[in-house]
Amino acid sequence: MTQGAQKITAVKGMNDVLPEEGAAWDDFERAARDVTAAYGYQQIRTPIVEQTRLFQRGIGEVTDIVEKEMYSFVDRLNGDELTLRPESTAGVVRAVIEHNLLYDGPKRLWYLGPMFRHERPQRGRSRQFYQLGVEALGFAGPDVDAEVILMCRRLWDQLGLSGIRLEINSIGSANERAAHRTALIAYLEKFEDQLDADARRRLHTNPLRILDTKNPALQEIVEAAPRISAFLGAQSEAHFEGLKRLLLDAGLEFRVNPRLVRGLDYYNLTVFEWVCDELGAQGTVCGGGRYDPLIELLGGKPAPACGFGMGLERVIDLMGQQGRVSKSSIADVYVVHQGDLALRVAMTVSEELRGAGFQVLMHGNGASGPASFKSQMRRADASGAAFAVILGDDEVKAQEASVKPLRDAKAAQQRVALSRLCEHIIDATLNSGEVFVAET
Ligand code: ATP
Ligand code: MG
Repeated sequence: MTQGAQKITAVKGMNDVLPEEGAAWDDFERAARDVTAAYGYQQIRTPIVEQTRLFQRGIGEVTDIVEKEMYSFVDRLNGDELTLRPESTAGVVRAVIEHNLLYDGPKRLWYLGPMFRHERPQRGRSRQFYQLGVEALGFAGPDVDAEVILMCRRLWDQLGLSGIRLEINSIGSANERAAHRTALIAYLEKFEDQLDADARRRLHTNPLRILDTKNPALQEIVEAAPRISAFLGAQSEAHFEGLKRLLLDAGLEFRVNPRLVRGLDYYNLTVFEWVCDELGAQGTVCGGGRYDPLIELLGGKPAPACGFGMGLERVIDLMGQQGRVSKSSIADVYVVHQGDLALRVAMTVSEELRGAGFQVLMHGNGASGPASFKSQMRRADASGAAFAVILGDDEVKAQEASVKPLRDAKAAQQRVALSRLCEHIIDATLNSGEVFVAET
């Protein structure tokens, strides 16, 4: 007996999407394409690997992501410092600047792809995860903030999801945040001995993020902390009021959450999150807002920007919870065959049926030829196909096929001329009420 080779497993926190989960991913991606198209957003695909500097500058040195979550490495061949993207905004903005995409006016962009963060794997949190994101670049008004938020609502509707709530806040301008930050540090210093290690570490680097803490012991302290809303100037107020009015006009309910901040330094004015209760601790399915300073920070001509990032795994988890995944089928027709000549006819017939728009599974032979009719028919039944097309010696000699309806016990098996096979299956499909429309 030979010893099996040692198994190689996936990297911790990086998950396979198995075939049975494929339908949900397809549903999501289809809806994402439809919704982004409905708002005139164009797709952009940027590389998964970028220079580490891009994220250090574009996300900020004192963020969780840059401090401890990035997959950074040195390219062995040339010493370049590279990083697997932990998010896509920085890469998109880099590409926009590099290709001067804003030369003829603002741009509305979307992307979908894998992101990488070295976090503790748990439900709703993995080390490779997918995001759908949009970036509206060059628009300053709150109307675009409202637009990207409404895109999310349309996506939830299209996916049939309910119970996802919108929370919004304004974090003002850099100056306003600086004043708030000073007040916040002064306030938190009074409680320094009660803070946890994380909060103490952030106290002088990223105190805003302490407001976001999930530690129950700190809730009372952060609840009473100075709020950014008290530091907003007239312009920031007007922007926030404008957004709220547009959301109300659109009949969209929201909650102003004065403690909502973003972990990323480049955000300003609007921040928002979509949250739900059905996903356990990782209930935020989407986060976004405005990041007007970023384009200039990355070397471009100053231009305002806003967008969101949405976690696919969390939304797909919710689709499963709420029974919103469509049934997928791999086959309308299963082709059973026996004999050399039947095999050749089966190939031709399968191609013809596929040309007519059917999903066709042709029985695959083993090394010693086809399996018995009986075992092929078992496979046909298990495939979920509506019809088996059977080709044996008899049929082939007569230039015919037997067609057996698999889901209607009362319908009889019929012999059909090969020349009429497609037509027959189309008719039978229409009569059986199966949802299938042949392409013309
Ligand atoms: P969290 O507080 O959950 O860590 P975040 O603030 O780091 O979120 P963003 O950087 O705003 O998240 O990313 C946008 C969305 O991407 C999140 O709302 C979430 O749905 C998803 N997401 C973020 N990190 C992960 C992860 N490690 N695994 C799965 N999804 C994630
Ligand atoms: Mg995070």
